[in-house]
Amino acid sequence: MGGHTSCVAISGSGGDGDADGTGPPTLLLDAGTGIRRVPALLGGRPFRGTILLTHLHWDHVQGLPFFPAGDRDDARVTLAMPAQGDPVAVLSGAMSPPHFPIGPHGLRGEWRFQGLEPGCHRVEGFDVLAADVPHKGGRTFGYRVTDPAGRSLAYLPDHGPLGLGPGPDGLGERHPAARALADGVDVLVHGAQFTAAESAMAEAFGHATVDYAVALATEAGARRLVLFHHSPARTDDGVELIAGALAGAPVSVTVARETLVVDV
Ligand SMILES: [Zn+2]
Ligand SMILES: [Zn+2]
Repeated sequence: MGGHTSCVAISGSGGDGDADGTGPPTLLLDAGTGIRRVPALLGGRPFRGTILLTHLHWDHVQGLPFFPAGDRDDARVTLAMPAQGDPVAVLSGAMSPPHFPIGPHGLRGEWRFQGLEPGCHRVEGFDVLAADVPHKGGRTFGYRVTDPAGRSLAYLPDHGPLGLGPGPDGLGERHPAARALADGVDVLVHGAQFTAAESAMAEAFGHATVDYAVALATEAGARRLVLFHHSPARTDDGVELIAGALAGAPVSVTVARETLVVDV
């Protein structure tokens, strides 16, 4: 499925689009090492857009200084994270000497760093709903992105609903934020690090199980579920096994792999 960590690139349609009518990505969800794949989508152009971080865990930010399209003089990047004090100071906790040679302001180009409050925001022409979701070890958001045509994608890579209670079936609470983010969405990209048999570990680590993701997608009327953020310890065959067991699920399920393109 690939070894990179979380990063999803979103392109609108139209504008100065490529031959297939899709523009260059202007909105990135998280900046894990998967961001190394984004320059290929930009065809030599600088990144000009916004990066929304769900939270500050390493696997969601470590790609930031390894993103050549964003680290060049003609790049223009807004980096937004859940509000929790000075965003540069927060980011510097992991990205500054002695942990790393440069701090956030060492990136070339025009970078702006913002703390984001929950609620509705207009970002790069998209409507973005940001909501606090339970996780372990730091404030974490889920996002719902809607384009001007009403096409929507929800993104909850790190989400620990068992932290709020067992819910109706022991899988985890279907809390209002999860419901609001996923409600009738075209694509729900949800963390799938643990199976139901691993639910004790899922709870301890602040994650959900695959079964929870399927239940949430089904109950919220999501059109399609993309299982994302697989366990680093699971083999590709192991992931395929999980997907195979979901063949009869009441919602269409796709297993994310690196470079997967989802048309919404
Ligand atoms: Zn996390
Ligand atoms: Zn993570």
